[in-house]
Amino acid sequence: MRLQELPRPERYDLALWVNPAKDRFRGEGELELEIAPGTRAIELHAVELELGACSARDAKGEVRVARIRPSLERETVTLVLDRPLEGTRASLRIAWAGPLRADLRGLYLARSGKRRYAATQLEAADARRFFPCFDEPDKKARFRLRVTTPTRYQVVSNGALVRTETRGSRKTVHFAETPKLSTYLVALVVGELEASRRVRVGRTPIRVWCVPGKKKLAGFALEVAAVALRRLEEYFGLPYPYGKLDLLAVPDFEFGAMENAGAVTFRETLLLVDAKTVTLGEKKRVAEVITHELAHMWYGDLVTMSWWDDLWLNEAFATWMAFKIVDAWKPEWKMWLDFESHRAPAFALDALENTHPIYGPVARPSEATENFDVITYEKGASVVRMLESWLGPAVFRRGVQRYIRRHREGNARAADLWRALELAARKPVAPIVAPWVERPGFPLVAAQRVERAGQAFLLVEQERFFANPKVGAEARTETRPIPLVLRVRSPRGRDRIVRALLEKKRSEIALGPADSVAWVYANADESSFVRALHDGAILRALGAELGRLAPAERMGLLGHQWAGVRADRAPLADWLELVTRLGDEPEPDVLGAAHGPLAWLVDHALPALAGVHAARFRGLLGGIFAPAFARLGWSAGKSEPDEQRQRRAALVAILGNLADDADVRAGAEARIGPYLKSRSALEPNLAGPVVELAARNGAAPLFDAYLRTMKAARTPQERTRFELALAAFRAPALVERTLALALSEVVPTQDVVPLLVRLLANPAARERTWEFIRERWTDLSPRISPGLASRLVSALPALQTPLYRRQVASFFATHPLPTAARALKQALERFELDADLRGRIVPDLREYLRPEVKL
Ligand SMILES: [Zn+2]
Repeated sequence: MRLQELPRPERYDLALWVNPAKDRFRGEGELELEIAPGTRAIELHAVELELGACSARDAKGEVRVARIRPSLERETVTLVLDRPLEGTRASLRIAWAGPLRADLRGLYLARSGKRRYAATQLEAADARRFFPCFDEPDKKARFRLRVTTPTRYQVVSNGALVRTETRGSRKTVHFAETPKLSTYLVALVVGELEASRRVRVGRTPIRVWCVPGKKKLAGFALEVAAVALRRLEEYFGLPYPYGKLDLLAVPDFEFGAMENAGAVTFRETLLLVDAKTVTLGEKKRVAEVITHELAHMWYGDLVTMSWWDDLWLNEAFATWMAFKIVDAWKPEWKMWLDFESHRAPAFALDALENTHPIYGPVARPSEATENFDVITYEKGASVVRMLESWLGPAVFRRGVQRYIRRHREGNARAADLWRALELAARKPVAPIVAPWVERPGFPLVAAQRVERAGQAFLLVEQERFFANPKVGAEARTETRPIPLVLRVRSPRGRDRIVRALLEKKRSEIALGPADSVAWVYANADESSFVRALHDGAILRALGAELGRLAPAERMGLLGHQWAGVRADRAPLADWLELVTRLGDEPEPDVLGAAHGPLAWLVDHALPALAGVHAARFRGLLGGIFAPAFARLGWSAGKSEPDEQRQRRAALVAILGNLADDADVRAGAEARIGPYLKSRSALEPNLAGPVVELAARNGAAPLFDAYLRTMKAARTPQERTRFELALAAFRAPALVERTLALALSEVVPTQDVVPLLVRLLANPAARERTWEFIRERWTDLSPRISPGLASRLVSALPALQTPLYRRQVASFFATHPLPTAARALKQALERFELDADLRGRIVPDLREYLRPEVKL
């Protein structure tokens, strides 16, 4: 499916006529090419573009295009020339027209109320839906754009604005030529936009662009962008390469954000915030995403992966770098705890038989789109972090700087990075890290304390971890080099860090005199991408001193033990014992780490228990968490620290959603009315859980109020909060109304999949939602954009039963979603794993909740 090495584009000179009020746009381009002498046919990418006049030119003059041969399969057109081209350089003139698309890719239509915008989203392989091009990441070229549009519109692209020519009601905007870029990094946004003030970092002017009226929400983004750019320049030791930096909030946008060189596009929720009502979580996410995109200006834009199989070189690094930079800027935000939460889904996915390596062969564009998942981002970032920890931050940074300098404006593969790191570290790096990138899955490290002659040792044994207990021993047998970091605690409460590189299946790590070791935790700071399961004695000691582990380790321990339960390697009772110790847990993220598994139990296991046992389970949760919430209360003191505010919100979510706590539910219902009238009636961090909880038993008037509030929302976050909470209503008539909205323009295309995912999480709506998806597929599928399809498919195991599993398999066999092919296999696997776990866990839970044993 790849293009030939030659022709290679060197420069694209593109003239575009774009009017977002019209359904079509057109363009004319002149492409300068390096060619093989004697070239007779030129194949380049173009999809759903109508080609007009085209011709080639070499040193001898113009050459007619005799024939155009399209290939639907290859998404290309081949221009067959009248005569062979002479020499090694030629140019191609080409005219085309195309639709302003509806599916959030290529050059597409985004609406904001009555306003219409044309915006691009070209990654992975959709530049070919915008202009005829050599749409592969290693075919880098310079781009010079000029865009003609009605004078009332603003036009933003990668290059700086050079000049504007106005003729009557139209203008032509000329942009500066870019440095060499991959096609997927070209950007264009046209429409009524307003720009923030400019801030400068060195010589780089930074601005935020948004739909009119929202400029006042741009201050935080400007602050973050300035801080991040300065810190990134320092880290890489290279100035920002693209002259100016525009950050654009696009009103309908598939992904979170897109790192187009010099013109980064975002979902509105990830760029525009109101300092008075924003929650800390929203703010941290905005800072992280902006920093991620700016890290791409070096990792990705300046040095680009040679092909989509190495997508992780872009994404794993940008993900890791964002946490590193924001954490250094705001240590009090504890960004690495967010990272720990984010990577929990990567652990879950990577424990499936249908996982994939971080590095993954890509033949066709849909496979490139599939690779934008938690394995590439979060597992990838975890491996980068593990590598940095193993090499040391200074050595690692020297290697990265060498790699960026060596490949700037070019492309690179993983091996190029390993070489640069090896030169910096003066030791082999590839043998340690390549297995993590090239092989699927991750290790389980079983840790056991042994003593000999007064000395303590940790006996560790590795195998590949699978969620499915039925996977045979052969598939599990694997060794890979594991850089492991241990926290060793003395009886007097002192911590030591012990580092080891595990290269064999079994290793023994010396811990020192036995009487100097109270306990050991086998993945200090969760710095390695492994599941650690400790033997019973260690686990009891860890449980007894849970509060003395680092917060990330408490999150890790809860995650490892729950994974052990799922895989039939650890008893449920041990995990529940850890949960009973969380009543006084100060860190909201640790509560968050317990929330997911508890929600699974409530959703999957409780319905199979007798009423009395289910009530006891909810009572158990209430007994653990209600006293903590009672001490906090609903209102926050003025000087209350952020984590206390977030902890309150986490407790409300657990008590209201999982423990069915009548007081908390009533409290949420009593507070929604005042909150709808005045946003200052509620501590901002409580907005999420309260809006969601109040919806559960809400009737039509509350539904109408949410809809009105959503339409009149003052911030993008508020809009999304009320929009997605529509999916939490349980009355059947209201479920129908939410489903109908998914087909209407009230819900922008970008939010259709998130809304359906929420509906599938709602026990009162999920079966009807699945029926609706099947019945209305013809209307719905155009609103399920390719990049989000896998998210919808991944939410379907909520349907739980074998009947639904069969329906899901057969429905997508006849209605295939190419960008969700792997997600479908994973979803079907998860249906089975959940069923298996329900069968094992329900008796355990019944036993745990026996009246004479507990409470
Ligand atoms: Zn990215």
